[in-house]
Amino acid sequence: MTDRPGRQADSRLATRDSRPPTDPSGYLDPGQPSFCARCGQPTRIESRGGRRRPVCVACGWVYYARNALGAAVAIESPDGILLVQRAHEPYRGQWMLPAGFVEYGEFAEECAIREAKEETGYRVELTGLWGLYFGTDDPRNVSHLAVYGARIVGDEPQPGDDAIALALFKRGALPAQIAFQGHRRALADWERSPARPAAPPLGDPKGPAPSS
Ligand SMILES: [Zn+2]
Repeated sequence: MTDRPGRQADSRLATRDSRPPTDPSGYLDPGQPSFCARCGQPTRIESRGGRRRPVCVACGWVYYARNALGAAVAIESPDGILLVQRAHEPYRGQWMLPAGFVEYGEFAEECAIREAKEETGYRVELTGLWGLYFGTDDPRNVSHLAVYGARIVGDEPQPGDDAIALALFKRGALPAQIAFQGHRRALADWERSPARPAAPPLGDPKGPAPSS
């Protein structure tokens, strides 16, 4: 199976027509700038590092498209897995794991715990890394989603500002509309492999790095 829409992007980049900007990978890239983020001069499409990218001929700045990183929690109970219903676009009304984008400089583990609290009201602790899933159907950015197993350690359920509702879903009875490829792929794994092992957390992610 492939999500790749085809390598037709160079001509779009070169002509700057009214269609949404597309990266040479073929995926949409709404962040692609027509003007330099540093000095404000118009960018030009040139080859850099094997791909054609917006560059600023005035100051040398080069735009590199980046995959976003999201972090999600898989909170399981005997009654199923906890999902949230999206209150906002994209995919308003569809269901997803509690998740959000990792902030710059934030650890994915911190983000997963923070988003669980913000979206569900629960304080959780992580039990391990469930998997890493790529998705290309978020119109804001292509992204990887780090999914962590988690268990509830406190507080009460309370849908956050981004959620219409919270609900538990059993295997084989997931909602028909699940937002985002990464979430669909993670939940498909969850349905297929109930005993799938997760990589356990390795101590404090913000602790000192091991020395060589
Ligand atoms: Zn510039």
